[in-house]
Amino acid sequence: MAYLENPYDGLVGGTWLRGNLHTHTTVSDGQLSLQQTVNLYAGFGHDFLALTDHEILIDPAGIAALDSRGMILVPGYEVAGGPHVVHLGAHQRLAPTLSRQEIFNAVPQAGGLVIVAHPDWLGQFDHATIEQLREWTGYAGMEIYNGGIEEEDGSCYALSKWDMLLAAGRRVWGFANDDCHNPAKSGRGWNVVYVTDRSAEGIVDALKKGRFYASTGVTIRSIQVEGLQVRIEAEDADRILAIGATGKRLAMADGNLLELRVPDSARYVRFECLGRRQAAAWTQPMFVHADAKSMKALSFLDTWNVSPRMADSDLADVDPVKAATRCTMPVQGRPFGHILEGFVDLRPQIEAQPGVVFLRTTFRKTAGRGILKLGYDGPIRIWLNGKEVFHGPGTNPAVLDKMQFFVDFREGENEILIAMNSNGGKVWGLFARAETPGRD
Ligand SMILES: [Zn+2]
Ligand SMILES: [Zn+2]
Repeated sequence: MAYLENPYDGLVGGTWLRGNLHTHTTVSDGQLSLQQTVNLYAGFGHDFLALTDHEILIDPAGIAALDSRGMILVPGYEVAGGPHVVHLGAHQRLAPTLSRQEIFNAVPQAGGLVIVAHPDWLGQFDHATIEQLREWTGYAGMEIYNGGIEEEDGSCYALSKWDMLLAAGRRVWGFANDDCHNPAKSGRGWNVVYVTDRSAEGIVDALKKGRFYASTGVTIRSIQVEGLQVRIEAEDADRILAIGATGKRLAMADGNLLELRVPDSARYVRFECLGRRQAAAWTQPMFVHADAKSMKALSFLDTWNVSPRMADSDLADVDPVKAATRCTMPVQGRPFGHILEGFVDLRPQIEAQPGVVFLRTTFRKTAGRGILKLGYDGPIRIWLNGKEVFHGPGTNPAVLDKMQFFVDFREGENEILIAMNSNGGKVWGLFARAETPGRD
């Protein structure tokens, strides 16, 4: 049965916290000191704040010495020297000379996440271009609103780029931030995050999972999802829109309540709750897992975490539990429309050298018989939910759906772990799809 992959699934036992994740102080080019900035944001009633000065990592001890006024201070940092990116939760100073992709690889390994900042800044609206956003992998999201750009060239919004990425199946979360340099330009954008662990780590974890919405003034009261049915209520909204691929309006309601059955054909849906004086709240996207077998892109397993190459590991001796813990680097398959759509390129890990790489992914299924369809170019072992389901040689090149076999999916989240021998360094990567015949 078709369903929505919904980041707000199962919100129980937690609480919603509000905060801004992009702020500058006198440590870099802001006007207020660290303590004045904390006081300003505590005054807004925010629950958390990230201080993200450019190129200067604020000493964690220095942050601990601030009177946080009860706000949670999330470690943050902004890297310039290219399209700006903000990283959170990693406690890392990253050189501006690094390529953006190097940053997107390094930060998740340190436990953090990266947000592409103000993509539509500048006269050509191209601080981060759509080509770059498509090419890059491993960033958690982008600023769909940046308050600092209100009086600058370009747009403070980046909704069209967001819709283009979402339509290509990319899991990119939308953030609203102040990018505050000046108290007169603060309190404009924030994020409302659902946490079960009221700490910086708990906030970073929820942000990674998309358990938040972005706001410039509207508060969402509830988001209810059942199958393809969504009901959304926002306290101070005058109008709620449902947006699907690529930016198309699926539904609209005047007032503070919208109910919608999302069409199977919509690749995703997201909601914009519009209030007075341009205030808005944006939910994260929910992706449609449709019935239509023709929509094969939806069944690609294309979001993986990959290990570095294990030079002296032998495929015969792999311990799947240990191997899973080594899979820390996010790797995204080629997007919808790409000539190698769904292909997971492991060449950066393999570096044309002998060894073994591990890949891990999770995905949701309804319980029952399904088919794994694979194409790969090196010897491979596969575990589904901890049980080995396949072991075989690989041949060059990887061909889509070349190897197919039946498996039993369990209800809800399923996990696949793959160990792949690099075949002396000749391996490029793999295609993988998980299907339930007649269903998705
Ligand atoms: Zn910036
Ligand atoms: Zn900034």
